[in-house]
Parts: sequence; structure tokens; C-alpha cells
Amino acid sequence: CGIIGYAGGQPALDVVLAGLRRLEYRGYDSAGVAVLADGGLAAAKKAGKLANLEKELADRPLPTGPTAIGHTRWATHGAPTDANAHPHLDNAGRVAVVHNGIIENFAALRAELAERGHELTSQTDTEVVAHLLAESFSACGDLGEAMRQVCRLMAGAFTLVAVSVDDPEVVVGARRNSPLVVGLGDGENFLASDVAAFIEHTRDALELGQDQVVELRRDAVTVTDFDGVAAEVRAYHVDWDVSA
Ligand code: GLU
Repeated sequence: CGIIGYAGGQPALDVVLAGLRRLEYRGYDSAGVAVLADGGLAAAKKAGKLANLEKELADRPLPTGPTAIGHTRWATHGAPTDANAHPHLDNAGRVAVVHNGIIENFAALRAELAERGHELTSQTDTEVVAHLLAESFSACGDLGEAMRQVCRLMAGAFTLVAVSVDDPEVVVGARRNSPLVVGLGDGENFLASDVAAFIEHTRDALELGQDQVVELRRDAVTVTDFDGVAAEVRAYHVDWDVSA
């Protein structure tokens, strides 16, 4: 339901949690985060209010690092449980993904993954994306390209944001029939489902078009279509008031 991703010089987890708080108004049933730190990928997710996730993080702190993603979920496939909350990870725990929307052909993709030996542990439509990204990434070694390949397999509506421990400088995002905006900072950049998530950091934004993939680094943002062709994106300044 709400998504934020961050790459930059601030402790990424704090930025992401603050962003999730700014997205709370949309309503949600679960929340989760993933952070790249110390050469690893660490995640936490809880059903219920953000306070539940914050309590989990207080009891079991995650390492701090420069890259993180976060999600508030409004369940469409699978009950609002800890296991179904996002982020979803592949079996090796190398890739984490958050998702808004519905992947309509997830059952077929899930069956194909099971045949190839993947073990899916949630009831969500989203989890297939983590496994598909991990497969594509291990073949091509590029998270942006992996996202483009996976997007070409999926039908439905999605905003996706993902990170990989094997490409730790980059946060990738993709959208089809669901919003995704980039926030442009100074030595830091943001990805979100809604500008409200990053408005306290920057008002300079890029609106992604339909069927586009973004690769976001702290000092660079590149956007392509699902075939890898460089895309034009609309830059704008958020000059309306976003109430606290
Ligand atoms: N379809 C996904 C799920 O049920 C994402 C829901 C959402 O947009 O939050 O987990």
C-alpha cells in the first residue's frame, strides 16, 4: 500500500521508518523494512501497526546502512500475518522486494518456480518476484536488468522496489498501473509510492511513466522502459503543502 526506498548518507532505516509514518494515512495492516548493511541483508516485518514493527526493531535491532526499503501492506492475497508482510526475500536471502498492487499471473509463476526448486513460504502474490529477481540476477549480474526481465513476465498492477546484497549501491523500482515517484536529494535519492514519504527531505521529484524501471543510487538515477531503452521522465517541483 505504501512504499519507500532510500540510497544516501543518512541512516537508511531511520529515513525509511519516518517515510512509512508519513504514509500511514493511506491505511495498512502490516509493515516491514529491509536494510543493506555490513555486507548483508537484514529484514523485519510485523502484522499490525507500525508500532509493532518499531517494537520488533527495538527488541531486535537491525544494523544501520546506507540503503533500505520499507512497506506498509494492505493485503490482497494472503491474510495479514508476519509471514505475508513485505519485504519478501528469495530462499538465499540475497534479494528483498516490496510491492503494491496485484500480480495477476502469480499462480502460474509460482508453479514454475516450485518446479525449479524454489520454496515459497507465504500466501502472497508478491513473493514470486523475490525468487524471479534472484534467478535473473544470478544469470545477468545486474539488478536493473533483472527487474526488467521479471517485469516482462508479469501481468497486473505493480509498484515494485527491490534491493540485493550483491548490488548494494542500488535500489531498483518498477511500475505498471500503480504509482512510483523519485525524490532527488543532494547525495541521496528516494523512491516512493507517494511524495509524502520523502517531502521532508526534498521537493524535487521525477514521475515515472507507465512500464518503466528505475535504478536509483545515492548520486544517480536512470530510467528505462521494460526493454532497457532509456526513457524520458517528467521532472517537477512539489510546491503544494503536504500537511504533517
Ligand atoms: N498484493 C500484495 C499483497 O497482498 C500487495 C498488497 C499491497 O498493495 O499492499 O501482499
